[in-house]
Amino acid sequence: MIPHAPVDLCVVGLGAAGGTIASEAAHAGLSVVGLEAGPDHDPTRAAEEFDTDEVAHVVDLKLQWAEPEVLVFEDGPPIPFPWLARNIGVGGPHHWSGFSFRFHPSDFRVASECGVPDGSSVADWPISYEDLEPFYESAEAMFEVSAGTTHPWEPERHAPYPQPPLPDSGRARMLTDAARRLGWNPYRPPAGVLTRAEPGGLRQACNLCGHCTHFGCTRNAKASTLVTVLPAARATGHLDVRARSRATEVVVDGTGRPRAVHYLDADGEEHVQPAKVIVLATNAPYVAKLMLQSRSDHHPRGLGNEHDQVGRHATFHTSMYAYGVFDDLLLHAERGPALHVAIDDFSEGRPYAAGAPFRRGAQLTGGMPATFAGGPLSFALALGDWLPLPDGVPGYGEGLLEFAAHAFARHMAVFCLGEDLPRAENRVTLDPHLVDGSGRPALRIEYAHHPEDRAQIAYMLERAELWLREAGADTVVSAAPPIPGGIRAGHAHGTTRMGTDPHTSVTDDMGRVHGFDNLFSAGAGTFVTSSAFNPCLTIVALALRSAPAIIAAAS
Ligand SMILES: Cc1cc2nc3c(=O)[nH]c(=O)nc-3n(C[C@H](O)[C@H](O)[C@H](O)COP(=O)(O)OP(=O)(O)OC[C@H]3O[C@@H](n4cnc5c(N)ncnc54)[C@H](O)[C@@H]3O)c2cc1C
Ligand code: SF4
Repeated sequence: MIPHAPVDLCVVGLGAAGGTIASEAAHAGLSVVGLEAGPDHDPTRAAEEFDTDEVAHVVDLKLQWAEPEVLVFEDGPPIPFPWLARNIGVGGPHHWSGFSFRFHPSDFRVASECGVPDGSSVADWPISYEDLEPFYESAEAMFEVSAGTTHPWEPERHAPYPQPPLPDSGRARMLTDAARRLGWNPYRPPAGVLTRAEPGGLRQACNLCGHCTHFGCTRNAKASTLVTVLPAARATGHLDVRARSRATEVVVDGTGRPRAVHYLDADGEEHVQPAKVIVLATNAPYVAKLMLQSRSDHHPRGLGNEHDQVGRHATFHTSMYAYGVFDDLLLHAERGPALHVAIDDFSEGRPYAAGAPFRRGAQLTGGMPATFAGGPLSFALALGDWLPLPDGVPGYGEGLLEFAAHAFARHMAVFCLGEDLPRAENRVTLDPHLVDGSGRPALRIEYAHHPEDRAQIAYMLERAELWLREAGADTVVSAAPPIPGGIRAGHAHGTTRMGTDPHTSVTDDMGRVHGFDNLFSAGAGTFVTSSAFNPCLTIVALALRSAPAIIAAAS
């Protein structure tokens, strides 16, 4: 075991949440160690660091973890596979799509607004939109978010977006017009993508190259902590970034108080890093996993798990999609980032108010390729594999190739991202059989949809198809994934839920684990409900809100 000198703060995982907290603490003058399991990248050489090999990124998912988890979905058998699309490397989401929505006020008070459906563990958050609003503003400034357009349900904001909007694509215009004809309220989604660059700065403006989702951005136009806050944080001299350093356990002192993190370096050597305060920011389910595998005589069920709450209330979003082929139009959906147009008419209980059998709902976005990014190769490889074919198109041979050649440049997709209701039974645990790359038990995910989720999936697929038909698609194909779809979108929430009661939650509203003064969970693990929005901006806003409490504890 290689010992290290004690520091004020050890942040485990340097992605969206961890990178933000490490940066705030370094600027406050604390001694900070950031342990990151993945590689480091040099953002001044982004063009070389992030290549545009389509198969490597869109098919083989090069910028994601490849270790398997075990998924038990509904009553199915346990299936090992790298289910969770999750980030790896300093900066976290290099290959994200950039959707940068704020949650809406009702997302923080679902139980008060909708009640608690039977078979769910719906609850209110211990904080409100108003509590988080100033931190949304700071998060948008930090990611230099480019503007969205206004719509009837836009939450109140007190500052303009930091950047001008991305230009409208032709697909955005087609879908916007179609949505208006249907009586819906389309708007441009805010984007964590730079549209106006400072001369000589690290980040260049987006050139709409389309190597966005699944790829790292060769121009640093897409935000991540690697290019936003970590360069200045490193320059303080207070942040020691240790890449390829994989945490395996939080160890406690003789009183049961967390005192250090054990980790493995790239050669498999074991290290111990003592710290006054420890922040776990390894992406929601993996924060829970670290807590569960940190067992000791004081904490035989894992850290913070006295009441069997760690790992529970996991949500992943429902995620379903449709694509349309427009026989006489060259759309080239592979161009530009995936951010074109969004619809909030079907979230936050609006369908329920109109008689639909589910209480919350989903958001629609559209205009991207069915593979979200990538060229003809990844489209053709996906067709007939996970991407369904229209009736009559064979899954092999000449017929498949003809369809792929015709449809690639002439198709676009619509995705639905829905709020799945939390259930205490939906949880992550340690698998009794499979081991991970560090020799510890692999993550096991047990998940079943609430009946209202299933109703929402069917309802939203009808809307997705309708939208594409109204826009003029000649052929429309839709699909509900056979697994909790948001898993493949990298959306994982809950598992270290925030709340005021230790019997039903794991942390307080700052992410501080109940029963400890020096252990924090950061990231979407603390979400109480999932909302119908992508999580990253909320993760960064929560990290900025918690940072002063973490700094105070470590000072
Ligand atoms: C393809 C894709 C597209 C996405 N698009 C969007 C989008 O458009 N909008 C949006 O809001 N969200 C998007 N997301 C989700 C978003 O990336 C995540 O929600 C967010 O990054 C999670 O933040 P985090 O800080 O909790 O974890 P991450 O940002 O994932 O950071 C966790 C870090 O911890 C490291 N780590 C893990 N285990 C260990 C360990 N044992 N020891 C040390 N380090 C460890 C990981 O390598 C990683 O770097 C997308 C995700 C994917 C996969
Ligand atoms: S489309 Fe824009 S944000 Fe996306 S990878 Fe290309 S330059 Fe970067």
